[in-house]
Amino acid sequence: MQKPGKIVCVGRNYIEHAKELGNAVPDQPLIFLKPPSAVIWDGEAIVLPAVSRRVEHEAEIGVVLGRRLRQGDEADARSAIAGITCVNDVTARDLQKADGQWTRAKGFDTFCPVGPRLLALDAGFNLSGLEVVCRVNGVERQRGRAAEMAFGIPMLVAYISRIMTLEAGDLVATGTPAGVGPLTDGDEVEVEIPGVGVLRNPVRAAPR
Ligand code: MG
Repeated sequence: MQKPGKIVCVGRNYIEHAKELGNAVPDQPLIFLKPPSAVIWDGEAIVLPAVSRRVEHEAEIGVVLGRRLRQGDEADARSAIAGITCVNDVTARDLQKADGQWTRAKGFDTFCPVGPRLLALDAGFNLSGLEVVCRVNGVERQRGRAAEMAFGIPMLVAYISRIMTLEAGDLVATGTPAGVGPLTDGDEVEVEIPGVGVLRNPVRAAPR
């Protein structure tokens, strides 16, 4: 996989996760951007910035575009998807709450682990059958199915394409299920999509 040109993320796309942070599911997808400079790959360390006291994992199903998509409908979106990968939308929760917008909280270097591989979609692939799991030090913290999303994957990709042109290689992170929680120095966090792979990243405190 190559580094994405842009990373478009979806917030509050699972009802139980929206609830656990005291939010309602929006009536349209809530989208935001993470910078490509945040991307790390399987095995690389998530570095906890000294400025945050609460960095959390968010296991997500990642969708990679195979071609340009602009003003697409759901069928266009489905055919523009190259494949599926694991994403961890790492978030400094305290800074997210303090700032009122999310660029700093979600934009630190190393805050976007991606991988370990891209599962290419064939035409009959059942996107709503996908499941995502998060484990920290081997203990399960999150488990969610794409079928539980407020907005399904083709709808999300089409919706985003009506706002900004999506290019080949762009990554869409489709939201996290309930169970987000803190990461601390020395942890190992895994994001697994069964049938796709397991993305493993150690967690390290930044040197002070
Ligand atoms: Mg997220």
